[in-house]
Amino acid sequence: MADHHYDDLKNELRAQADLASVLALLEWDQETFLPAGAQASRTRQIGLLAAHLHERRTASPYLDLIDTLAARIDELGDDARVDVRETKWRVDRQRALPVDLVRERAMLHAEAKSAWIAARQENDFARLAPYLRRIVATERDVARAIDPTRPPYETLLEEYEPGASLAAIEPLFGQLRDGLLPLVNQLRALPPDRSDATPLFGDFPIEKQKELNRRVATRLGFDFALGRIDEAAHPFSTTIGEDVRITTRYSTTDLRYALYSTIHETGHALYEQGLDREAFGLPRGTSCSLGVHESQSRLWENNIGRSEAFWRFLQPLASDLFPELEGRPVASLVRAANEARPSYIRTESDEITYNLHIILRFELEKALIEGDLPIDDLPHAWREKMQKYLGIVPPTDREGVLQDVHWPSGAIGYFPTYSLGNVYAAHLMQAANVALGPVDELNARGEFAPLLGWLRTNIHRHGQSWRGAELIERASGTPATPNALLTHLQRKLEFIRG
Ligand code: ZN
Repeated sequence: MADHHYDDLKNELRAQADLASVLALLEWDQETFLPAGAQASRTRQIGLLAAHLHERRTASPYLDLIDTLAARIDELGDDARVDVRETKWRVDRQRALPVDLVRERAMLHAEAKSAWIAARQENDFARLAPYLRRIVATERDVARAIDPTRPPYETLLEEYEPGASLAAIEPLFGQLRDGLLPLVNQLRALPPDRSDATPLFGDFPIEKQKELNRRVATRLGFDFALGRIDEAAHPFSTTIGEDVRITTRYSTTDLRYALYSTIHETGHALYEQGLDREAFGLPRGTSCSLGVHESQSRLWENNIGRSEAFWRFLQPLASDLFPELEGRPVASLVRAANEARPSYIRTESDEITYNLHIILRFELEKALIEGDLPIDDLPHAWREKMQKYLGIVPPTDREGVLQDVHWPSGAIGYFPTYSLGNVYAAHLMQAANVALGPVDELNARGEFAPLLGWLRTNIHRHGQSWRGAELIERASGTPATPNALLTHLQRKLEFIRG
């Protein structure tokens, strides 16, 4: 009885995933190859398909099916239990929201996003403020509708990191912040020539960089029979069924620009390509959380791609295409890849300062939701925290509170997943070093398969079988703490210092 219902659920979830894949393909095309004059019909196609998918996801027979299965979850096998539990959790959050709230929220986000574009252009926070005020109020309503008994911020955070709690995140971020502040002070005390990117500057034709990206992604394990790399203004990765596509962007003078965005997106893609294909469309075959996803991209980008060992492997490969790199000392290339100093813009910041940008946003957005910070005080609070954490104050709001699209898009609770990703990445690397022996020795030889295999076995193939924190604990043998990340950054700082 229950089995037949479970088969029905699997069929429906797979159909929904196929529809979502078609949508993803339309959106990928819009960001890459769509002729500029064809935007109107594409927007219409996407709208139609999105509406159809929404109808399917909110149809009564489907919701009844989930409730029927959830009522008998104890009778189900392990696999079915995961799929039913996670599907019901997601569906319950959605159906807790009154239709009017969903509609108003979507309209508000669209309006706020265009207000943000204008506000950022004109460096005018006041223009965005009324929208942010409404977004904070709306997100509080959303959180209360989903669960009136929990702190609203925690409910919002769970949208991106299911199972996350303030009881776990607050001490973790507190410890991370307290460990990072002395590192940033040491960084600020370094002579300026310790932070020199010129060894990775030069004349790098895009076609050759494309070849380099292709070779690097292939060596890391990206399967081009099941994916592509193309170009887009804002790099992203997307999954279209079993086809995983990434995009990157190029600078003809700075080799780091495309290389590291490619490695980052390759990390996301390796996770997607490593999911259990038999469970396509089901929670077991879907990535665990944004924090876990980001742990995979950051692990390859930072822990591997910016290491000295990696550059020992990469220099000959890159010199083959760009002979000018051949004579440059490896240490100078590594130092260039790790150029670090406090800066205003999060997306351009280095590994050592990055997480303080996130902690600043976490503290501010939590205060906004909890009613401890009025919107009008936000720019000032931003500057104060920048001074306190990074020792610099952005000269304009454009380089401060107006820089990110997240809040105007209604994404409150999203930022913490970036730092969770960094914490998880370093924690996993520590465990991989125990399991595989010194991973650096493998990297220097360009042998990435053992590490990828370890991640596949311990992270990728489990999908949503467990929530993020538990998945990381099972993979590594210990609960994640910021210790491994802080040790990794301390070593990096020592390397930069020379
Ligand atoms: Zn990412």
